[in-house]
Amino acid sequence: MKFLLVFDFDHTIIDENSDTWIVKCAPERKLPNGLRNSYQPGHWTEYMGRVFVYLGDNGVKEEEMKRTMTTIPFTAGMIDLLGFIGEKKELFDCIIVSDSNTVFIDWILKAADFHKLFDEVFTNPAAFSSTGYLTVQHFHAHHCAKCPKNLCKRKVLKEFLDKQSERGVSYRQVVYIGDGGNDLCPVMFLKKNDIAMPRQGYTLEKKISQLAQSLSPVQCSVLVWSSAIDIMSYLKLLIKE
Ligand SMILES: [Mg+2]
Ligand SMILES: [Zn+2]
Repeated sequence: MKFLLVFDFDHTIIDENSDTWIVKCAPERKLPNGLRNSYQPGHWTEYMGRVFVYLGDNGVKEEEMKRTMTTIPFTAGMIDLLGFIGEKKELFDCIIVSDSNTVFIDWILKAADFHKLFDEVFTNPAAFSSTGYLTVQHFHAHHCAKCPKNLCKRKVLKEFLDKQSERGVSYRQVVYIGDGGNDLCPVMFLKKNDIAMPRQGYTLEKKISQLAQSLSPVQCSVLVWSSAIDIMSYLKLLIKE
């Protein structure tokens, strides 16, 4: 049986938020106040839609966006970790579940030649319109009260595991690697035998420890990482067992 590695993208695979980084393409590398203040909690995708319209209106082209996005640094140790997983791919299935979008993730993974490593990428579908504007849509609809309107990562993970199980694929362990508040919902779905790997000092780690302090800890094991080398060390132990 294989292991399933579930990766968040922003601040996990890359050491930045891709949606914030794109602002480097805007005139003077910033957004007008009115646009910046138009974000409403839970409606990030709509906000990014307006950002992309602004970039399009200001003549920012696909090539420039791509050039900018592919300069985002990977998180410390991540290139080594992904290289290691690539060498042992027969032992690991890898998916990404992200609130970024298909265009950004494609560009970044392909530029670094990591796209073949991931069996599936679940993120908001994006595309350039015939007029050259980037557009983005909700990944799905869901009924989870804890998650932003466009994406519940727990639903994605559950549907993926169900689909795999229908094909006769089950996993020895699910390893969930992330940093953000929206990674808590899928982590709370993990079973006793699974492991959550929250990035040290980020929201997911804080939320997991708050749950432990309020005496309703998550069921899965928890191992904090600060460099992706920590994750690699854990995977090396796993495959030795
Ligand atoms: Mg993240
Ligand atoms: Zn949820």
